[in-house]
Amino acid sequence: MREQVYLARCETYRAEELEPLIHRMFESLHVYEELKPGMTVVVKPNLVIRAKPEEAVATHPAFAAAVGKCVKKAGAKVLIAESPGGPYTPGLMKAHFKACGYTDMAEQNGFSLYTDCKSREVSLPEGSVCRQLSIVEPFLDGDYLIDLAKLKTHSMVSFSGAVKNLFGAVPGLQKPELHCRFPGKEEFSQMLVDLCGLLRPGLSLLDGIWAMEGDGPTGGSRRELGAVIASKNPYAADVCAADLVGIEPASVLMLRYGNEQGFGPIAPEELELIGDLPESLRQVDFKQARASSTDFIDKLPKALRPLAKKLATPYPRIDKKGCVGCGKCAESCPRHTIEIKNGKAEIDYKNCIHCFCCHEMCPRHVIGVRRLGAFRL
Ligand code: SF4
Ligand code: SF4
Repeated sequence: MREQVYLARCETYRAEELEPLIHRMFESLHVYEELKPGMTVVVKPNLVIRAKPEEAVATHPAFAAAVGKCVKKAGAKVLIAESPGGPYTPGLMKAHFKACGYTDMAEQNGFSLYTDCKSREVSLPEGSVCRQLSIVEPFLDGDYLIDLAKLKTHSMVSFSGAVKNLFGAVPGLQKPELHCRFPGKEEFSQMLVDLCGLLRPGLSLLDGIWAMEGDGPTGGSRRELGAVIASKNPYAADVCAADLVGIEPASVLMLRYGNEQGFGPIAPEELELIGDLPESLRQVDFKQARASSTDFIDKLPKALRPLAKKLATPYPRIDKKGCVGCGKCAESCPRHTIEIKNGKAEIDYKNCIHCFCCHEMCPRHVIGVRRLGAFRL
């Protein structure tokens, strides 16, 4: 059976256009039938760093408001939960929600924001690479999970959508630990598939009204894509989104592994699309993340691959002039290989595993993604 995906053009975050659209999506995908009065619906936006809505780093608060209002129509309660990068404490989380524009939005709409920052260990007996994880409590205890992702490029895993968004269910500094446990793109992507299998969102929505292109998920540029995507299957939503922005879904390892394990489709032809035609929204010149394109290595003779991989692997580089020595990069580095010396960050490359957590967390966007000479092409 083909997975249903609702794809719609929407060029604005204005409530009068967005709310009726999300309502139609809930109706068409039979979400209202699953929500019951009194249920706690956990809504998981992507708030990876403190950023204003117009920067297109985080799920727009107006998007979360439109979704939450539909949940409330069904008589259910809305609890917005997220764990960004860096330390995870009640004080920091409150400040984080405020900076991303969620505090006032939640108050106006009668939604709760989760700031207790409690988590517990769970086992994943079915996990392929990951059998034990710490998860923020509402993601384990809520009655229904809505995955509210931002459509973005990603320097490590090439694409960030519904499946990748769930990584924010892992509390704060446990995320760098997982980068250490699963340092390669392959193991890390498989871990994301295990995590998605544990959390099983009931509905996944992608905010692609303002998407991010280039060096996402935090250092890219806003691209006004004007797309909203919804599906009950997070892989199906991501396949549709990746295809719209010129990323071959099968090249995104988490989508490929998820498909191999029977969790979702891998090609646009496997989707049952409702709403607008993808051709009307597809953007062929959408800029990809620089670090992600190493697929050509698989096409080289086997003997050349290890050297090519070593030379082509992108690395983080700090623009010292713009560095203010805040230490956010060092805090997020899973290998503790960044030090602040004389007010500037310095990387000791011996221990670097090329996870780009530092690039992702730098509030000044001064950690670039670099590749050696010829491989920049
Ligand atoms: S996070 Fe960015 S600004 Fe802060 S110390 Fe690191 S490189 Fe410098
Ligand atoms: S220096 Fe940056 S890319 Fe290297 S391990 Fe640390 S966080 Fe990851």
